[in-house]
Amino acid sequence: MDLGQRSETVRRANLSAIVRTLHEEGPQSRSDLVTRTGLTRSAIRVLVGELKAAGLATEDRAVRHGRPGRPSPEVSLVAGAAVAVAFSIGVDTLAAAVVGMGGTLLGLSRTDRPRGHKVASAVVDDLVSLLDHLPSGRPEPETVVAVGVAVAGLVRSRDGLVENAPNLGWTSVPLGALLAARLGWSIPVVVRNESDLGVLAEHRRGAAVGIDDVLYVHGEVGVGGGVLVDGRPMAGAAGYAGEIGHVPVDANGLLCRCGAIGCWETQIGAGAILARAGLPRDAGPEALDDVFAAAEAGDVVAQAAIETTGRTLGSGLGGLVNTFNPRMVVLGGIFGRLHPHAQQAIWEELERHTLPAPRAMVRVVPAKLGVDAPLLGAAEVALESVLADPATRFGHRARVAQLASA
Ligand SMILES: [Zn+2]
Repeated sequence: MDLGQRSETVRRANLSAIVRTLHEEGPQSRSDLVTRTGLTRSAIRVLVGELKAAGLATEDRAVRHGRPGRPSPEVSLVAGAAVAVAFSIGVDTLAAAVVGMGGTLLGLSRTDRPRGHKVASAVVDDLVSLLDHLPSGRPEPETVVAVGVAVAGLVRSRDGLVENAPNLGWTSVPLGALLAARLGWSIPVVVRNESDLGVLAEHRRGAAVGIDDVLYVHGEVGVGGGVLVDGRPMAGAAGYAGEIGHVPVDANGLLCRCGAIGCWETQIGAGAILARAGLPRDAGPEALDDVFAAAEAGDVVAQAAIETTGRTLGSGLGGLVNTFNPRMVVLGGIFGRLHPHAQQAIWEELERHTLPAPRAMVRVVPAKLGVDAPLLGAAEVALESVLADPATRFGHRARVAQLASA
């Protein structure tokens, strides 16, 4: 590599450091950026100038509360300059969102997914039509960096093939390719398991900010897990790791949708709560809302259904805490809703099944981003290319203007 190439590589890496800091930590003054990135004051001035000229950042004279001295201008990213389109495919709901730089949610729309609606191409059509229902309208394709998709199933990360999604009834569905073809945008479509994305979002903007060893447990009809080890996702050889819902816990138990007997998800998924409340296991999300509402109103059967599920959740979590030694367990999906009702039951069983040393350092909390954690994680993954090399967006505004006038 000659000197010119090397300095260009360094320049791009420095731009990336600035944009990543602003994206993850929010607006900063230039002097904060000097501290956060380790770059010199003059390098920050030049590079922020480039980002502003490219329309990716702005600088304003924000008043800084609670700090002595003259207020210094703050650099912030322009949310709409580069956006991700994120989709999530759950058993009962589909959602679409547009998320800009800095993690700014620019639009979200959600719809119920009819359980019978299984054909992947029909689901892809439903997802894409959600874009027309965004309050912000359909995003300009030129501003979209990539598409991220969260799905309740085993995903081969290389190409977005959904190998197996028992609760969606899918086997070997080339979801990434189907969606790319349907959108026709010629940008990357990144498909990941919903729990892997949930842990990422909670780590970046939710309950687990600043905590690098995290177990995220997501419950809906199915149950999945996402694990961060030393700040990095534990994906496994092909991206299939974390399927904690299919850990066998009862050899004489119920038949799971995956085909095995007695998986953990048959005891703690939405169907288990419904069954304990005396309802059919497949009664659906509205029936589950009714169970939570009844528990809040003091109904003892509903309360017992939630508490027993909390105990079963807690004992399994004990085994997982022994396995992964997380500092934090984040409960997502229905487990986040269950937590305020069953906090004590969950913790008592976790304590009973956890070895003293890992138990002493773990906390169990509900997801801060609620049911949207996987969707927001999908957006974060999709924005990664612009964070890694913001210069790829330089000149983009000029090209878009050119296209518009052509
Ligand atoms: Zn199973």
